[in-house]
Parts: sequence; C-alpha cells; structure tokens
Amino acid sequence: MALQRTTRKKRLRKKRIIHLVLLLFIIFLFFFLDTFPFSPQEVKDQLKKDVRNQQERTIAQLPDAEHSDEKVVYLTFDDGPTSATDDVLEILKEYGAKATFFMLSPHMEERSNLVKQMVQEGHGVGLHGVTHDLNRFYKSEQTVLNEMNEAQQVLENIAGVHSSLIRTPYGSVPYLTKPYRKALKEQGYELWDWNIDSRDWDRKDGKYVENLIDQIQSIEGNGATPVVLLHDQSQTAQSLAELLTYLTEHGFEMKKLDSSVEPVQFRCYDRCHQLPKL
Ligand SMILES: [Zn+2]
Repeated sequence: MALQRTTRKKRLRKKRIIHLVLLLFIIFLFFFLDTFPFSPQEVKDQLKKDVRNQQERTIAQLPDAEHSDEKVVYLTFDDGPTSATDDVLEILKEYGAKATFFMLSPHMEERSNLVKQMVQEGHGVGLHGVTHDLNRFYKSEQTVLNEMNEAQQVLENIAGVHSSLIRTPYGSVPYLTKPYRKALKEQGYELWDWNIDSRDWDRKDGKYVENLIDQIQSIEGNGATPVVLLHDQSQTAQSLAELLTYLTEHGFEMKKLDSSVEPVQFRCYDRCHQLPKL
C-alpha cells in the first residue's frame, strides 16, 4: 500500500511539473508574441501593403490621360529615318496624327531632309544613338553618353532643334544599369521606353495591327495612356493607315512626346546587369 501511495505521489508530482512547464511555455509564448516586432497579422498587412505599393508604382509609371474626356495615344517610330519615312509621314499627315521618331545619327545624316520635315510638320524628334550595336552601345556609361551626345549634335546641326528625349537600343532593360541611368539623367536626358510593343518587326506581312489594337484597349482599360513602340520601316507603313483609322474612329488623339509628359520607363528591379564580357 505504502509503495503504491509513493508511486501515485511521484506520478502526481511529475504531472504537476509537466503542467508547470506547459504553463511557463504558454506564458513565454504570450510574452514573445506580444514583444515580437510584427505579429503574424502585421506581417500579412505589411505584405498586402507592399503588393499594393508595387501595383501603384506600376500604374504610376504610365502617363495618365490628361483629361478624362481626351483619349491620347503616343506613337513612336524607332531606327529611322529610312526609305519608309516618306510614306509614314504622308499617312500621319492624312490623319492629322503626330508621332515621335527616335533616330540614329547616321540615318539622320543620310536623310537630313526628312528630319527637317518631321520638325516642320510638328512631330517629336528623339535620339536612339549611333551604332545600334549592343556591345558597342552598352559597353560603359561613357559609350552610352557619347552615342546620345553625338546623335543630339547631329540632330541640332540638321534641324536646329535640341532634344533630350532618348530611347536606348532594344529598350532600357536589362543593360541600362542604375549607374548608366543616373549618368544620363545628370546630363538632362529623358529616357523613354514603351508600354505597348507592336512587334511590327516580327510581321513581315504588316499584319501587326489587330494584336496592337487589343493591347491598346487593355492599356486604356487600366486608365493609362498608350505609348506604342513601332519601327520606321516599310512593313509598318503598310498597315499604318489601318491603325490610324481605328484610333481616329475611337476618338484617340495621336500626340507627340515632349518634356511635359512623365516618361514610361522599364524598371530594373533586379533585372539590370552589365553587358556580359565577350
Ligand atoms: Zn532600335
């Protein structure tokens, strides 16, 4: 009997110890949760906030429509002037549309009259560099600056206008790293990417318009102003009237870019890096 009582007592003590440990653990847990900087709910809220900020930033980089009743689209033509520019300018004129041309300096020198005509007809003129060669253009901050400075000078000599609007070859991501962007900004350049890629270069038959219209509707549905990447080339000119017909019929005004518009720029996040060394 005495032995049984002792065993029961021991068991009871063991139970009490376990309860005490559990109690201490619960107290510790409460204390820890209370003093931990972020409760699980706070962490969740913070994550939600980050996602929201991210979305706001993405929307913020798209220029808003200037007036709610005015629908604007910015058409941009890269790589010219070329043998197609005559046609492009004629079609734009027919529709009372303005556009912006990001040009290469050797092409400007070759077709200087077309550059003058663009300016006279009220289009935007911007710089696209000299070589359009990834390895030469993005080699260093200095090569990027040199190409843009040279193109700026050529444009000024030809048309007597100074432009600080630039577009780097193939867009700013991934090779235009943050220090490159800083160097360009310090020189007063305004970097323009796009929010719609027409992929006109991909369609030799010129049938890029249908897909482009879908993209314009979607961007516009998000409350942003479309900035469309096109190329100064014959297959683009071929279907340009079709595009302009749609835009005109749907109440869009085709305007040129200028310094008063907040540029659309691709963001680096963690995507930008220097050109791989050959
Ligand atoms: Zn280009």
